[in-house]
Amino acid sequence: GVLGMNLRSYIRDIADFPTPGILFRDITPLLSDASALKYAVDRMLELCEPLSSDVIVSVEARGFLLAAPLAYRMGKPLVPVRKQGKLPYKTHRVSYQLEYGTDTLEIHRDGIGEGQRALIVDDLLATGGTVGATAELIRECGAQVAGYAFLIELAELNGRQSLCGEEVVSLITYD
Ligand code: IMP
Repeated sequence: GVLGMNLRSYIRDIADFPTPGILFRDITPLLSDASALKYAVDRMLELCEPLSSDVIVSVEARGFLLAAPLAYRMGKPLVPVRKQGKLPYKTHRVSYQLEYGTDTLEIHRDGIGEGQRALIVDDLLATGGTVGATAELIRECGAQVAGYAFLIELAELNGRQSLCGEEVVSLITYD
């Protein structure tokens, strides 16, 4: 058996990044420690397996770093969601509100089949805007959201409450 690891100690806090007043949770120390990375992926796998999904959908760029090993371990396909203009084939597109302005995400139209259950994976849940927009793209494809999985959840931003219905799992919560 693997002993518990304090994953929180591998997250570095950076004040005033990317803009003044923001406390950025930096996951690169976790990624650069082989045991911590393996432990995090293994624990996420345990949380994700009960959500019975057909496909993993993830958002650029840090989400991919966790979604790829998860999809590989689960033996499931991986569908990328990217910022506007990056995906080469026909896409569905959705714009969503940021604190200042809007952003646009895209998914390939043939990425997910109708009726499939998609598990959304990202590194961090803040307001839920990013994964909420990703859920809309999944529904545009005629598929369903099986649930949401994160390494980190910033609970005070109430992202969880904004994601109606489906299961939300996370490894590290900051209150
Ligand atoms: P939301 O859309 O407000 O939930 O913000 C979540 C998105 O912003 C995720 O894709 C994260 O990668 C990114 N993000 C927001 N805050 C942080 C942070 O403190 N560290 C790392 N990524 C963050």
